[in-house]
Amino acid sequence: MAKIIFKKDKYKKVRGGYSRLLQISCQKCSKQICKYQKDGPGNLRRMYIDRILENKVPIIDKNLNCSEGHLIGIKIIYEKENRPAFRLFVDSVIKKIIKA
Ligand SMILES: [Zn+2]
Repeated sequence: MAKIIFKKDKYKKVRGGYSRLLQISCQKCSKQICKYQKDGPGNLRRMYIDRILENKVPIIDKNLNCSEGHLIGIKIIYEKENRPAFRLFVDSVIKKIIKA
C-alpha cells in the first residue's frame, strides 16, 4: 500500500502543525468507514471532507453512513473556516491510530 502523505496547509498549521492518521470504523458494526488525517490535539468531533482518505462509503451525501446503514454523521459547513465536514454523533465511531 502506498504511503500516505499528510496534507500540510493553513488548517493544519492553526492546529499546531502535527497530524495523526486514524482508522475510522462504525461503533455498532465495526465496518471500516475511512482513514482520516486528524490535525492537532483534541477529540474527534467532526471530520473535514478534505482530510478523509480511502473512504469505503460515499462522502458526497448529506448523511454519512457505514456500509450497514448506521448513521455516523451529518454534513455541515464549519463556519469558522467555511469548510465542509461531517459532524459526528457521539460514540458513533471507533478511532484507531495507524501508521501513515
Ligand atoms: Zn455500522
